[in-house]
Amino acid sequence: MNRVRLLVLNAALGPLDYRVPDDLHVEPGSVVVAPLGPRQVLGIAWESERLPGTEVPDARLRPILDVLPVPPLRAPLRRLIEWTADYYCAAMASVARMSLSSSAALRGGGTITEYRLTGVMPSRLTPQRDAAISALDGEQGTIRELADLAGVSEAVLRGLVNAGVMEPVVVDIDRAYPPADPDHAVPTLSDLQTGVADRFVDAVKARKFAPFLLDGVTGSGKTETYFEAVSEALRMGRQVLVLLPEIALTENFLKRFESRFGVPPVVWHSSQKQSERRRAWRQVAEGGAQVVVGARSALFLPYANLGLIIVDEAHEVSFKQDDGVRYNARDVAVMRGRFEQIPVVLASATPALESLQMAEAGVYEKVDLPSRFGEASLPEIAVVDLREQVPPRGRWLAPPLVQGIEERLERGEQSLLFLNRRGYAPLTLCRNCGFRFQCPNCSAWLVEHRLSKRLACHHCGHEVPSPSQCPECGEADCLTACGPGVERIADEVAQIFPDARTAVVTSDTLSNPEKIAAFVDAAESGAIDVIVGTQLVTKGYHFPELTLVGVVDADLGLEGGDLRAAERSYQQIAQVAGRAGRASKPGEVMIQTRHPDAPVIAALAAGDRDAFYAAETDARRHAGAPPFGRWAAIIVSSEEEAEAREAAQNIGRAAPRLDDLAVFGPAPAPLSLLRGRYRYRLLINARRSAALQQTIREWLHPMEFAPGVRIGVDIDPYSFV
Ligand code: ADP
Ligand code: ZN
Repeated sequence: MNRVRLLVLNAALGPLDYRVPDDLHVEPGSVVVAPLGPRQVLGIAWESERLPGTEVPDARLRPILDVLPVPPLRAPLRRLIEWTADYYCAAMASVARMSLSSSAALRGGGTITEYRLTGVMPSRLTPQRDAAISALDGEQGTIRELADLAGVSEAVLRGLVNAGVMEPVVVDIDRAYPPADPDHAVPTLSDLQTGVADRFVDAVKARKFAPFLLDGVTGSGKTETYFEAVSEALRMGRQVLVLLPEIALTENFLKRFESRFGVPPVVWHSSQKQSERRRAWRQVAEGGAQVVVGARSALFLPYANLGLIIVDEAHEVSFKQDDGVRYNARDVAVMRGRFEQIPVVLASATPALESLQMAEAGVYEKVDLPSRFGEASLPEIAVVDLREQVPPRGRWLAPPLVQGIEERLERGEQSLLFLNRRGYAPLTLCRNCGFRFQCPNCSAWLVEHRLSKRLACHHCGHEVPSPSQCPECGEADCLTACGPGVERIADEVAQIFPDARTAVVTSDTLSNPEKIAAFVDAAESGAIDVIVGTQLVTKGYHFPELTLVGVVDADLGLEGGDLRAAERSYQQIAQVAGRAGRASKPGEVMIQTRHPDAPVIAALAAGDRDAFYAAETDARRHAGAPPFGRWAAIIVSSEEEAEAREAAQNIGRAAPRLDDLAVFGPAPAPLSLLRGRYRYRLLINARRSAALQQTIREWLHPMEFAPGVRIGVDIDPYSFV
């Protein structure tokens, strides 16, 4: 009797046993379809000794229905799924679902019909047809994808197909990608870079787990050095995963990769077309995708033959996922490296304290690139004390910064103004009655977006058209914008320098790869004088003519109760400063602040990174905060305020009393209402030696809650809102 235990891809169900019919072959990792009552479920065959379940007698087992035509998930990935679920207190099914993240790919190979323009013009040209034809130039996709892309109905496109304006093309969904050439354009590395690259290349050859922390200043050539490791992996026929913190960065990376290796890498992120995702998934699983660059979700893909993982800008907070499975891709990447027995490179100019600590403890090998490549030197950093250098009323740029921009305009160089706030103003209020526009679903103000003429909530996406009168008192012309966002700074620049060409760079303006590419082209070709941007412009970009960086409000990042606020502020400002003077022209950075003596600002001004890290390390050690102690959060939410409060209080009352672990709260979360749910949180601070996850599981497991209550566990939390 051939039986199999399944990890069923439904978090509400435990492991289930089935019978394997004689005509099907199942091994650990096989992806199968099984009956469940009247329905069918997807499952992964698992080693039964690793997945305890109840023993159902052979006679009562139902047969599995089908084995899907995809390679079985390999043992290292199965171990990673187990580890991630265990460490982050998540359901194994939820983690495994991140590996099987293209349902279309699971159905196996085959063909699909895509459509493209033929070049024939229709005899009848409606405005919609006209719009579709210009939008679809050079595009190919399914009718639905193209309709989305062009913003017209599917019927319009079918009409174009019937009129011969578009034609069907049958496409093999599994077609391979053109191969990357490790020798396409090999750079000449400096001696320093060569030393670092050799370490990586040796590690790739060794086929062993080897975690590295690549600590190199901005512009030192971190990318160039890890590209050498990539090319070694390519020669060995092994796959490489490069994780980037934001999709917005990939555009720049793709170009660089292509000029080094002759072809672009395979891209993986959540906003891709379904057909692109399906092809990428299958090529990843079959080994044809040589280098995958992606956001954190690329980490759980079923690579056939992974040889190297790079985590670039490894300090970035966006590697932490804050919904679903709350995991940190930086840390899970290292675990994947361990299970796969391969090197992992964490690259950063401003490493997380946690990573530096791991290097100090000898767990990670630290490799340094302490100076910029070529003639470039690190920029001069000056502090502008806003208490002395006061901007004119209703303005935000102090005189020295305005003068700095003016000098750049005269010399034909570029300036970058950094303010981490999207939109025009973070708060709109009525001068007449004091009414403030607030989100109905969240405890947050609505942010005015003047470019799109809307007020929007940045937490839930709620939007209303910008009103012309106060909804409370009905008065017209009484609404006032309070505080600046990037759009308002861009306005200010335009008022002072009417001829300057300004670009606002945020997730609103660079919402797709085409817009990002257009921005990079414009900035590189000198068609932009002043860039005003959020954290989106702080990293990755390399604009040779950019010689001035202005930090509009350095104090902004220090607000809020986030335990890593000082570190994050330091990283952000150091990164944005790193955009200045990356080529032969020297760069200058001006930091506007009301607290020039704050340790973060003082360290930045003195260019003394070590002093900042030393002070921050001391503070963390003192507080028993990571990496010296551990944190976890339990987040309780419900649409009913009283229900959330009561559940949180019950959890608090059931808290274990242990010497190595302290529980704080429950307290309303800073964002106490989010997307229509009231939220309470408990914080746990534990010694490193404490059995943190085990304790939380045993604490919550016996508890029962009202059906509307949701309980989330966040291990090593980053967000404290
Ligand atoms: P980082 O990732 O450390 O910020 P980059 O890898 O982006 O640094 O390098 C900064 C700039 O210097 C890039 O334009 C890169 O092409 C260039 N560069 C770095 N090393 C070399 C090299 N060995 N040969 C040629 N150009 C280099
Ligand atoms: Zn909201």
